[in-house]
Amino acid sequence: SASASSFADSAAGAAVKADDRAHVFHSWSAQGLIDPLAVAGAEGAYFWDYDGNRYLDFSSQLVNTNIGHQHPKVVAAIQEQAGKLCTLAPGFAVDVRSEAARLVAERTPGDLDKIFFTNGGAEAVENAVRMARLHTGRPKVLSAYRSYHGATAAAINLTGDPRRWPSDTASAGVVHFWGPFRYRSAFHAENEAQECERALAHLEQTIAFEGPQSIAAIILESVPGTAGIMVPPPGYLAGVREICDRYGIVYILDEVMAGFGRTGRWFAADHFDVTPDLLTFAKGVNSGYVPLGGVAISAGIAATFETRPFPGGLTYSGHPLACASAVATINTMAEERIVENAAEIGEKVIGPALREIAGCHPSVGEVRGMGVFWALDLVKNKETREPLVPYNASGAANAPMAEFAAACKRGGLWPFVNMNRTHVVPPCTITEAEAKEGLAALDEALTVADGHTD
Ligand code: PMP
Repeated sequence: SASASSFADSAAGAAVKADDRAHVFHSWSAQGLIDPLAVAGAEGAYFWDYDGNRYLDFSSQLVNTNIGHQHPKVVAAIQEQAGKLCTLAPGFAVDVRSEAARLVAERTPGDLDKIFFTNGGAEAVENAVRMARLHTGRPKVLSAYRSYHGATAAAINLTGDPRRWPSDTASAGVVHFWGPFRYRSAFHAENEAQECERALAHLEQTIAFEGPQSIAAIILESVPGTAGIMVPPPGYLAGVREICDRYGIVYILDEVMAGFGRTGRWFAADHFDVTPDLLTFAKGVNSGYVPLGGVAISAGIAATFETRPFPGGLTYSGHPLACASAVATINTMAEERIVENAAEIGEKVIGPALREIAGCHPSVGEVRGMGVFWALDLVKNKETREPLVPYNASGAANAPMAEFAAACKRGGLWPFVNMNRTHVVPPCTITEAEAKEGLAALDEALTVADGHTD
């Protein structure tokens, strides 16, 4: 395949860019203010542009290329499936769909043994919520502030960040609560145990005042990702399990970002020994080579729909190309010990290096994470913890983060930046040498953020 050094075709890049600017309507963007990079190719942990610049991808795109770009086994599986059968309606049984469902079910915790396939994460959340409402006959869903669940109707309303605000009029039935987060605690807790205890008490009070009989589900990211990779204190996710059981509330864990190796286990829930009633997944299930997501369903909820139809479906549910890529991805991750690699690199290389980096930079307020799922919380002042940019900043107010991101890119590193944070979320396949290369570039770029501290 073409590598960055052997590849430079600026004229071709300019043509790609011209059509993009004329005709592609981009996500989350003011269309006239963006300048997207034209990408010519990608392999493993790298991608490159048409001018011969290569970037080490510390974002895994949108935290989805867990197996890296262009893994030959996954590419071959898609090609082989394309030669056999490209599409088939969801009502039929087909070999790759059956196998993908079994491989996912074998890895999800507990009795989550039935799989409803979707085209991505938001659709998984939509359908999980729908199942919970039908199962309980109750209307409300509780979700956390500082969360991201997708950009479709129910999913965006469940999302606990500013992206919800423009659609808030449609948020009927959604109630937000505070989850645990020591560094910016809503509970003024003095330690992790107290944070956990108070967060659980706050959730119980929220339930009491909303009326337990009206609550269908509580949805949580096992480890909230987009909102800042906030690893919950031990006991929190299990505590929510107990609360859900007490009130007959369906427990939905959203593992769209944290699942399939990201945290160094197949699912983040595995770290906390907890089994939800519904588990949503997407992204890492096939690293996004073909759009795919789904809901893993417990025996209890599956039973509701044994004799009564589930009133939902998607033309492309369990799409053969997507399922073939999932089968190849999951088998390859097992054969090549890719989940184990994520755990080892996180524990031995990334975690220790980020803690050292934090000690050297006044702009790094906190380091948190596990596996290949880490966040640096950037601050103006380590003592006050004032964020480097204000909440939901844009334009000039966001300049410190924009300058930091630009410095990363000049250093050959593609960062994941959200509000006042940069996330270190490379592919699960990243090698020690690649991780060290990226960490060195990050270390250098942070001097730009340091320039904006008090
Ligand atoms: N849930 C979580 C936890 C996510 O991180 C995301 C995507 N970032 C989604 C849901 C939505 O997934 P998608 O973009 O595939 O719809």
